[in-house]
Amino acid sequence: MKNLFTDDGLVAFSGTRVFDGKRTLMDHAVLVEGGIVSAVVPRDSVPTGAKRCHEDGCTILPGLIDTHVHFMRWQGPQFLAFGVTTIRDTGNPLKWILDRRGEWEKKRWPRILCMGPILDGPVPEHEVVCRPCGDLAGALTAVRETAEAGVDGVKFYVGLDPDWLPGMVKECHAHECRASMHCAGGGVLRAARAGVDEFFHLDGILADVWPGHPPGWLDLWGMPDFRRTLDRQRGVADDIRTSCITATPTLAYWDSQWRIRTGDSLGPENLRYTPSSMIEWQAVPPDPVSSERWRRALCAAQTFVGLLLEREVPVLAGSDVPCGLVPPGRSLWRELELLAEAGMSPTQAICAATSAAAAFLGRPDLGRLTPGSAADMVLVRGNPLDAIPSSPDILMTVQRGVAYRPEDLLAVQADSFVDEPWAVQFRRHYEKRIGRQATRGKNPKMSN
Ligand SMILES: [Zn+2]
Repeated sequence: MKNLFTDDGLVAFSGTRVFDGKRTLMDHAVLVEGGIVSAVVPRDSVPTGAKRCHEDGCTILPGLIDTHVHFMRWQGPQFLAFGVTTIRDTGNPLKWILDRRGEWEKKRWPRILCMGPILDGPVPEHEVVCRPCGDLAGALTAVRETAEAGVDGVKFYVGLDPDWLPGMVKECHAHECRASMHCAGGGVLRAARAGVDEFFHLDGILADVWPGHPPGWLDLWGMPDFRRTLDRQRGVADDIRTSCITATPTLAYWDSQWRIRTGDSLGPENLRYTPSSMIEWQAVPPDPVSSERWRRALCAAQTFVGLLLEREVPVLAGSDVPCGLVPPGRSLWRELELLAEAGMSPTQAICAATSAAAAFLGRPDLGRLTPGSAADMVLVRGNPLDAIPSSPDILMTVQRGVAYRPEDLLAVQADSFVDEPWAVQFRRHYEKRIGRQATRGKNPKMSN
């Protein structure tokens, strides 16, 4: 595969406008040398001798950051093809993901930040990618060992005893790591009071706004009774604001759940580059009633995100690839579109996947195009700062100064992945589900 430009010498990338993560500059060029941005200058000030790469009518953005991904090798080139130059892995076995983080530079992959395994309670939900914790002492050891391995953050999961959280957060912070959590029955506010820095998927909000809710999961947000919780939602949003916890709602995942139940509206374009075994493991039968409830749940989730935005709660862009079959790269643009519908301006949405994400992750070298930044950027046709495109026309992705065309990246033969942790996990969940269905089929008593 050919690179359009290597990182030898000075290269000037320009389009109609440059968004540097904060400001929009018209007719400017991003000067790159040695994989680093050296300056952003007016186009007529580009030094003679610089190689020039100009795309008329396009906008240059900092490379996008997807803050919620479960990495598998096949995803790498696809992320880059859609301008995602950094991902944060939110759950994989520690050694496996540290090894992948160590090799991204040699691959056509985004740079990888990682959190190691998902720290869960004694009976973990995703046993292949979790580290189970039986008691507080075990949980503190898990935090310490994960943090000391040099991860970029630590992730807590639904099965942890809420009483352990203050100690676990303290241990995280003692290692200068941020603590992020997929909350559930214990609620988000309790995690926030314990000092957790970020919560995923809006899970746990249900426990805060609707105590005693009927059994079910995020789809309960689509029930008519959920609307009656609006006053309480406002109060919870106020408390979230006060507690300074960051939200990563992964609306693209919510969006996937109504689409996946319609049978066909995931669309061939969305799944074009997804391995067929992934589709087989995650596909669910069409169910119009459940699909409609999930669609309303997504709207309710967007309303709640709107309440957070009104209160200036930090909200980051994360897709949850590949859960719900959300496709790598493309789904982050969908996330931005959904965040814009929830109340962000297009510029704020792009910041949620660039400068704001980098600030939360403690990586001032990413998400910006200023002198000293990593030369990670995406050249997209038109002006996404006016409206987030449903189908972005990416002309080029630049990573550490090396430029790629999406069509070349999408033609990369996917690495084998069937023995990777999340492949094993998805296959196990699938076999359990199929096994249950088969058992029900054989035993009429159980089919009711
Ligand atoms: Zn996830």
